[in-house]
Amino acid sequence: MNADPETTPDEAIRVTDLHKSFGSLEVLKGVSLTAHQGDVVAIIGGSGSGKSTFLRCINFLETPSSGEIVVNGEPIEMRPDGTPKDRRQLERIRTRLAMVFQAFNLWTHRTLLENVIEVPVHVLKVPRDEAIKRAHQLLERVGLGDKADTFPSFLSGGQQQRAAIARALAVDPSVMLFDEPTSALDPELVGEVLTVIRDLAAEGRTMLLVTHEMKFAREVATHVVYLFEGKIEEQGPPDELFDNPKSARLQQFLKSVG
Ligand code: ADP
Ligand code: MG
Repeated sequence: MNADPETTPDEAIRVTDLHKSFGSLEVLKGVSLTAHQGDVVAIIGGSGSGKSTFLRCINFLETPSSGEIVVNGEPIEMRPDGTPKDRRQLERIRTRLAMVFQAFNLWTHRTLLENVIEVPVHVLKVPRDEAIKRAHQLLERVGLGDKADTFPSFLSGGQQQRAAIARALAVDPSVMLFDEPTSALDPELVGEVLTVIRDLAAEGRTMLLVTHEMKFAREVATHVVYLFEGKIEEQGPPDELFDNPKSARLQQFLKSVG
């Protein structure tokens, strides 16, 4: 493990000066953000402001153009062009960063149980029996205890997203990355997913949560970041940011969503 003298022990993730371009389009223009253990960082911003790209760069679903990402004090070794130096290190760290997508992204030809045990068994080499036992507990916990042998297509969107959260939890992640986890759901299914996320926040899970649910962000976030065109325009504690936004752009944004 690479010791990093600047890291404080309870830092779960630190991102420094992250840049990302697609061709000539610069989408992230130097974003820095630190989450300590138990922090819930809500990331808000208009469509196209770079929220998904930011989360995707953190776990290298996209290759950052430059910047530094440190997970639990361990910097991900990057070449100057942002590609990972050491694939095995990246794969190891990546399993600590479980991502929950807007579109659930469950494996459709596998049962919920198989979805949940996949990474623990095949990547983390957890004994199968143990992984299965734990998967049943996790499915129970998200209210799907009786659906272990069901395929995703037989479930509602809310149930699928709760299964995706169980799958994310199965690797005991250091940081959970949520990318608009409720935006693909019918309105009546949003609440059941938010309830699961709220419980995770209450038990001290560290998370970065991209959301357009402002009420929810205010309720669960310890810190809110407003992205505008690939830069942090304003950030702070939720009450401050929502009740007393300083930036005119943020004021405008809050009006448009509120
Ligand atoms: P948000 O999640 O805030 O809506 P995104 O991160 O998805 O924003 O996108 C930010 C910008 O980057 C948009 O202009 C989008 O079109 C562009 N973009 C995202 N992914 C790609 C890609 N793979 N190739 C080219 N442009 C992309
Ligand atoms: Mg997005």
